[in-house]
Amino acid sequence: PPAPRAVVAPCASPSGSGPVAPPAIELRGVVKRFGANTVLDGLDFSVAKGDRVTLIGPSGSGKTTILRLLMTLEESDAGLILVDGDPYTHEMKGRRRVALSERRRSLVRKRVGMVFQQFNLFPNMTVLENIVEAPVHVLGISKEQAVHRAKELLDQVGLGDKADARCTQLSGGQQQRVAIARALAMDPEILLLDEVTSALDPELVADVLGVLREVAETTDITMLIVTHEMQFARDVSNRVLMFDHGRIVEEADPETMFSAPREERTQEFLKAVL
Ligand code: ADP
Repeated sequence: PPAPRAVVAPCASPSGSGPVAPPAIELRGVVKRFGANTVLDGLDFSVAKGDRVTLIGPSGSGKTTILRLLMTLEESDAGLILVDGDPYTHEMKGRRRVALSERRRSLVRKRVGMVFQQFNLFPNMTVLENIVEAPVHVLGISKEQAVHRAKELLDQVGLGDKADARCTQLSGGQQQRVAIARALAMDPEILLLDEVTSALDPELVADVLGVLREVAETTDITMLIVTHEMQFARDVSNRVLMFDHGRIVEEADPETMFSAPREERTQEFLKAVL
């Protein structure tokens, strides 16, 4: 049977007649292959502005691939990705799919931030240098302004006293909080979170999730989250998508998904992980 499509209608304007806001993220018929392995086979879905969407599903179902496509770390083989209604890496010219120029690509790319499982901090830099690097060199913000903002963000993630520490001197949980501050320093519209607690010792997980929960409560950043922390998914997201073999098997609000999933495949998966 065809996979159920999970397409959320864009929000109508308050007057009900004005222009309709495009989704923050939209995938249209996205195909991704690794050699003979077709991981995503014409995937459609969209994430409304300000939504917090968690992708769950078994290992190998394509969740990380979606984030990596959105991070431009992978190239799709067909289909389109739109960010805020704008083409992201490719656009259609007539019936042909054409890659965007580097310049156009990097403009849209700035709207999307990501936090990785393995933190990916620059090891030879201090905490502060890690955070100000991209705002200064990519956004062209003054050094002084970037340092000011970085210090605010470090306070926010509970590391106000670590600005001059080397990243290698920090615990995994602290490094991950630096990575969150670094992503936020770019003022992203969209934040992608890829298994951000998987590399952490259990006692460090709560701090990182607490910081992210606060980000969710205090900003309107659209979030797309891949996690095995079902409690976190429940607390933070307003929509959960269950993936299997690169397809959306089920889509629901967290309460329904975790307490009364409809599909057998979801029930099996949740029984194994909860
Ligand atoms: P998930 O995040 O749900 O665990 P992934 O997106 O990581 O799933 O992987 C989906 C599929 O794509 C798997 O079959 C995986 O082996 C394959 N895959 C992912 N990245 C690569 C890669 N760089 N090269 C080859 N195969 C890959």
